[in-house]
Amino acid sequence: MTTDATRRVSRGFGAALWARAERKCCSVTKRVEITMGYEVQVKCLDCGCTFTAAHGGGFFFHLLRCDRCGQTTSIGFEELGELHVRYVKGLSGPYCLASSERDREIQLHAPVDPISKDEYHRRIEARVGKCECHGQYTFDAPVRCPKCGSTRVEEGEPTIMYD
Ligand SMILES: [Zn+2]
Ligand SMILES: [Zn+2]
Repeated sequence: MTTDATRRVSRGFGAALWARAERKCCSVTKRVEITMGYEVQVKCLDCGCTFTAAHGGGFFFHLLRCDRCGQTTSIGFEELGELHVRYVKGLSGPYCLASSERDREIQLHAPVDPISKDEYHRRIEARVGKCECHGQYTFDAPVRCPKCGSTRVEEGEPTIMYD
């Protein structure tokens, strides 16, 4: 599959998520950030090995990737505590539908100062820290072949969706 085709797949997939979100709750009219994650089959263009890669986090956790070896790790919103609350405080709508009631409570009543998404991500990256390989876990590190380390990879269609 070409990169263009992959992009088309991602767009179609996003639209499906939107449709699903609207079905789930039609009273929410504000734009809701879809934070669901998914897995894809990936083929390395350098060594030919195939593997599975995850993208995005779920409704209750974030997924970060090592910028050196491509290993992923996750951190739950519970564990982030006030940091997540401060981010939600600064949003104009719920973080996601699954937590919309709690998110509204936070926006109305939580006695915290809001922080921006960039600041939120920077702080999570600092908290998650370094991978065993001494690389840094980040939100935007590229998918990497676990065998040869190449980032020249081709992604197939999403296979699994998770909340
Ligand atoms: Zn490879
Ligand atoms: Zn690593």
